Amino acid sequence: MTSQTETRPFEAEVSQVLHLVTHSLYSHKDIFLRELVSNASDACDKLRFAALSDAALTAGDAELRIEIEYDKDARTLTIRDNGIGMTREEVIDNVGTIARSGTRKFLESLSGDARKDTQLIGQFGVGFYSAFIVADKVTLLTRKAGGNSADGVRWESTGSGQYTLEAADLAARGTSVTLHLKAGEEEFLDGWKLRELVKRYSDHVAFPIRLRAEDGDKPSGEFETVNHAVALWARPKADISDDDYRAFYKSLSHDFNEPLAWTHNRVEGAQSYTSLLYVPEKPPFDAVFSGRDERHGLKLYIRRVFIMDASEQLLPTYLRFVRGVVDSDDLPLNVSREILQENRLVAQIRSACVKRTLDLLDKLAKDEPEKFTQFTAAFGNVLKEGIAEDGANRERIAKLLRFASTQGEDANKTVSLDDYIARMAAGQEVIWYITADSWLAARNSPQIESLKARGIEVLLLGDRIDEWMIGYLHEYAGKKLRNAAKGELDAADGGDAQAREAAAQAAQPVLDRLKQSLGDAVDKVQVGHRLTESPACIVLGEYDMAPHMQRLLREAGHDVPASKPILEINPQHALVQRFAAETDAARSADLAQLLLEEAQLTAGDQLPDPSAFIARVNRIVLGA
Ligand code: ADP
Ligand code: MG
Repeated sequence: MTSQTETRPFEAEVSQVLHLVTHSLYSHKDIFLRELVSNASDACDKLRFAALSDAALTAGDAELRIEIEYDKDARTLTIRDNGIGMTREEVIDNVGTIARSGTRKFLESLSGDARKDTQLIGQFGVGFYSAFIVADKVTLLTRKAGGNSADGVRWESTGSGQYTLEAADLAARGTSVTLHLKAGEEEFLDGWKLRELVKRYSDHVAFPIRLRAEDGDKPSGEFETVNHAVALWARPKADISDDDYRAFYKSLSHDFNEPLAWTHNRVEGAQSYTSLLYVPEKPPFDAVFSGRDERHGLKLYIRRVFIMDASEQLLPTYLRFVRGVVDSDDLPLNVSREILQENRLVAQIRSACVKRTLDLLDKLAKDEPEKFTQFTAAFGNVLKEGIAEDGANRERIAKLLRFASTQGEDANKTVSLDDYIARMAAGQEVIWYITADSWLAARNSPQIESLKARGIEVLLLGDRIDEWMIGYLHEYAGKKLRNAAKGELDAADGGDAQAREAAAQAAQPVLDRLKQSLGDAVDKVQVGHRLTESPACIVLGEYDMAPHMQRLLREAGHDVPASKPILEINPQHALVQRFAAETDAARSADLAQLLLEEAQLTAGDQLPDPSAFIARVNRIVLGA
């Protein structure tokens, strides 16, 4: 065996993370202990799982545990586990590289603004490197389970760009991480302090965490178990305090923030399982940046043994913000992802998880409206995906959605569909909405002018996902939903059919001239019931996509066939009347074109030739 020491550089990203962690996380320095204990616990979980198929792995030392020890004279703190351990390659891959693609995305998302980045990193969980917040040197000794004493590896780094690796003779499997504390970090060389931190952050860890007590009445050199060491979800609900639930959430999700709400249930019957589901307060890092295929946050246990992260199998995509644990009594321990996909028991657990989550959100909406508003701000748009994805729960999900409306003075003043229906005017048949690029654009859409003037509430859908989502929501509580920019607005909608007919007839010559002037650029020019203030607007066919959506899709490289717009005009408007009175051919062509372009702009469309538009406006303004 060579005892040669090899020095290797960290991957560039690791240095970046290290720098960030040590410089921006100081105010949260306690978390290093939680992170290292969580790694030790993961290592024990992994070994227990591996031992299911190879019992020899734990032979001789079957009681999995975590030990914390400190040495005041040497100024070191050691966290040790007898879990799975690592091979030399694994040490290089796991500790010397940023293996997780999520971490990369995190790095790419950094803004350079220390305050914001600290928040980000807090939501993300910094893992092993958090050791360098309080240590100026870290020594890791590890030996993979199943090997022999010669397989040990010693890794050491001062956290500045490089680390050393050498072979080490280790008598037992598992990993120990020794922190050489920085000057001023003596508080972590104190039994009371460590006990308090373990209680606070790691009480629920399902393996015993033993602290070598050195103070008070405990004789020195004796290990004492300081945590509950029972899986939190397996304890009777009556014994679990809200603080316990919160602490468990934090270590489960590596989130600094409190959970917004949780639901803990034990099901006994044809199959038995426990679920503990949390709704976070803010979008944790991964929900924001990782794609839909990289989900995690819901852990599957089988009879207390951690099996895998199974969010994708246990929750639909639109509930991907949920964090938690499912522990089944009935699934086979050797279950694979493939088996999970088609397992009948899993399908039942999944639909129960959906139901529990929707129940929880319902309750939050009813009992804690402020928290529910927070939820809507954080995850409302994710939940909207459920309208399209989960037909069976569509009505329930729709009930939970909140929309801005013409009754609210800003984008945050939202209403539910139930609120809307409750205050519908007598005779109003449908739920009106308009979609646009933004709240402001929706609010000022010319298409809703007459509805607004008549005091009819219109939902203002200004999020990107709305246009797609609303295509799946045709009806709610027996009321049809209608886009104010689409199709005919007729007498039944509160307008006066006769007056409209008369206006259309009177305006017929103007309509004909406009159509003639605009030619193929429009499908049709009409007088409608939408406008009271603007001269013109675009009206869509029942199945047309809104112009702002067409633009977005084109920008994303999609081939969207251009649909010809219907131009609705307001014969009372001065600009239309000016067009009607204009006798000069060139000026009348300019005015016609301007009416169309104004309508296109307010609909969130882009003008194909902005300079020509400007030139036209200038000619008209200057009376040229
Ligand atoms: P995470 O735990 O989120 O994967 P960390 O930075 O905390 O990220 O740890 C990185 C990796 O290092 C872990 O995924 C694991 O593979 C390895 N590791 C860290 N600590 C231990 C340990 N005590 N035993 C075995 N492997 C470990
Ligand atoms: Mg970790």
